[in-house]
Amino acid sequence: MKAVVTGGAGFIGSHLCDHLVAQGHEVVVLDDLSTGSPENLVQLESAPGFRLVQGDVLDRDLVHDLVAEADTVFHLAAAVGVYNIVDNPLRSLRINLHGTENVVEAAVAHRVPYMVASTSEVYGKNDADGLREDDDRIYGSPTKSRWSYAAAKGLDELVAYVHGSESGVPCVITRFFNVVGPRQTGRYGMVVPRFVDQALAGLPVTVYGTGTQRRCFGSVYDVVPGLLRLMDTPAAYNRAVNLGGHEEVSIKGLADRVVELTGSDSEIVYIDYDQAYGEGYEDMQRRYPDTSLARGLVGYEPARDLNDIIT
Ligand code: NAD
Repeated sequence: MKAVVTGGAGFIGSHLCDHLVAQGHEVVVLDDLSTGSPENLVQLESAPGFRLVQGDVLDRDLVHDLVAEADTVFHLAAAVGVYNIVDNPLRSLRINLHGTENVVEAAVAHRVPYMVASTSEVYGKNDADGLREDDDRIYGSPTKSRWSYAAAKGLDELVAYVHGSESGVPCVITRFFNVVGPRQTGRYGMVVPRFVDQALAGLPVTVYGTGTQRRCFGSVYDVVPGLLRLMDTPAAYNRAVNLGGHEEVSIKGLADRVVELTGSDSEIVYIDYDQAYGEGYEDMQRRYPDTSLARGLVGYEPARDLNDIIT
């Protein structure tokens, strides 16, 4: 099988490529290398049929040419990270909206099964005790500063869903919740690699806000096999499915844990959101996934806890 992976030079995409190659598939990556890096793919350079195409998902002809030769397409390319989104809301909206449109239209035109990466951010500012796919408060109130990302991803889901249901081409939509693992960088606001880098360098570990906000981090080593199983499961087609971890922690608790596990003597300092991200930034107080749908569909059981993820 030949797979196209957009955003395959990025964090999750490169792990997905590792799995696909290990399963014997030929992989073609389409990535503009804006946040991804060829270094994430060096281990695959000699794999049969492996190719990295440096290009933009906004390039419709290029996307169609690559998808035309594929048996399956995984769409992970997106403008991601809080800094990227808050600093360039229009750019992130364009890439995330029209890039997805290009990929999905190409997949449907060539009748190639496709997966579209969505996000827990589509749940907006929703502190529910386990966010569920059938939550009717979905898209309720994304905070202003993150609106372009959440809104574009929400529309991506709709584009994927409508095309999938009208064409009958298999379509999987995954809502990732704070996925973490090797190759993720802290450059764009991702908290775990940022804390680890700071702790290892003996620098202050900088918690934004009060640190009482809670998150549940998922390991890329759980999430990627989960999404691959969803692609093989017709009952998972044309619906959004949460994928994430199971251990909830406050950001202050995360900072403590990182300092402890790295044996660092870094101090933990608190920085106002305004100072970190600019005026008016708001964060969700809590984001915790209910992964029972994925469990029911493909037996998804995240096996890694927070200590595994940090170390
Ligand atoms: P990442 O930045 O490592 O990966 C995104 C990749 O897309 C990068 O390699 C980047 O260079 C590429 N890209 C960006 N714009 C592009 C364009 N116009 N054309 C071609 N390539 C482009 O981020 P990630 O964490 O691996 O995210 C992968 C996907 O998962 C994204 O769609 C993201 O929205 C989604 N997601 C991730 C998380 C998470 O916790 N990491 C959570 C929710 C959703």
